[in-house]
Amino acid sequence: MPPSDPFGTRSHVSNSAIHKHHTLAPDIYKRLFDTVFFKSQVFTTWSQGDRSWSLHCYGDPGCGKTTLAAIAVQRLREMTSASKNVPVVSIFIEEDISTSAGVFLEDFLYCVHQQLLPSAGSETDSHFRRYETASRSGESISKRTRILRTALYSQLDAKQHTLLVLDGYDRLGESLQILLDRELEDLQKHRLRILLTTRVPTFELPLDTNCDGGPDCHAWDLKLFWACTVCSQDPDEAFALCYDCKAKGKSCPHHGTAYLKEDYDHVNISFPDDLREFVEWDIQRCFGIPAAQPAPDSDTAIDFIADIGNITIAKLYLDNVHKDRSLDVVHKPGDRLPRNVVALFDAGIERIKKQPKHEADISLMAIAAAADRDNGTSIVSLEDWMRDALSRLPYLARAPPRSLEDILRCANGYIFEDSIDPDDRVSVEHSSSFKINDRHISYTTKADIAAHGNVASQYGR
Ligand SMILES: [Zn+2]
Ligand SMILES: [Zn+2]
Repeated sequence: MPPSDPFGTRSHVSNSAIHKHHTLAPDIYKRLFDTVFFKSQVFTTWSQGDRSWSLHCYGDPGCGKTTLAAIAVQRLREMTSASKNVPVVSIFIEEDISTSAGVFLEDFLYCVHQQLLPSAGSETDSHFRRYETASRSGESISKRTRILRTALYSQLDAKQHTLLVLDGYDRLGESLQILLDRELEDLQKHRLRILLTTRVPTFELPLDTNCDGGPDCHAWDLKLFWACTVCSQDPDEAFALCYDCKAKGKSCPHHGTAYLKEDYDHVNISFPDDLREFVEWDIQRCFGIPAAQPAPDSDTAIDFIADIGNITIAKLYLDNVHKDRSLDVVHKPGDRLPRNVVALFDAGIERIKKQPKHEADISLMAIAAAADRDNGTSIVSLEDWMRDALSRLPYLARAPPRSLEDILRCANGYIFEDSIDPDDRVSVEHSSSFKINDRHISYTTKADIAAHGNVASQYGR
């Protein structure tokens, strides 16, 4: 038995930012996202657990990703309750991480491992006992993590597969994300199936995959498909089948079904934005009207709030409706937005400003550029802005963005790339619910963004 280290931990101190649960608000509308997400082909396929790709669910800041993740955990547990061999684990990162990368990783692995143990106080495996001894005796963090990893793998390998719902990925800085991605990649090899929510979609060059199943199939722009990995080596010969055509027994004319694979490691899915049912339910609840009867004069209000497409902003409006017990708040189109909505936009910009200065400035510049016109700015002129700023500002030039991905990531979901044609990457725009204009932000924040716009546009075009 190695001597114990006075600083070594007897029991694991949990990281205050990482949680196993997220408690849903009691008034949450349980059917929220039902038709648009939980019944979608992509979710049903992923939840079967026999596919290796992860599901990345992205949406605007405040669109309800944590709520979706918490409902997903409930749903998956109900779905898999009959099968003891398919555990559902969840991790909610609810604050920005302030510990070192090594400590975060150890806590992350620990939190997943704890949820795989059959019940509290049950016999733990020998790897885990080694980990506990290593922690008590103050072994190095890399050794502790290595032992913990082995303990986790042995738990995962004993299961048919394990479903992990991970929320709050955006709370991690870039280097932590890279570290965690690497770890998740290894965990996937042990049949861990991952659903993660994120503000910024995992970056991918626009692909345009159509089904080659023959003239009777017109499936295009496929998210889920089987590709012939031999044919795909030559982009001009690429061959892909939609799920339906594969199920009908169609195959590659040159190689049959031998090399058909779902050749992607993740599928990005845009966050469900149809809130109509929820808004209707909430307004009816507010005025105490039975669900079968529509609330009087509420159609316009429901349309207006549902069209926002962002659950946080919709809820802020609904809060005001509840507070005033009146729909007036949505009937003043010419006025400034309600104070709570403006505060939300301001807080988002404040978070961007907390990044390292060069990243914050690049983000605000890109947001200013995208605000220049209604339809955003073209990538070519964004590049001009950036090049000009880099030539004049040495601290930016020392750490320039290396790709469009860098810029989109720093802007934290406030702008996105609008591209339909993969050959023509047209523009970056504000995400739909965050059009930054006079009505959406306070004077100070607006001045901040405008200042960055001026820095760039004074010399650029
Ligand atoms: Zn082929
Ligand atoms: Zn097809």
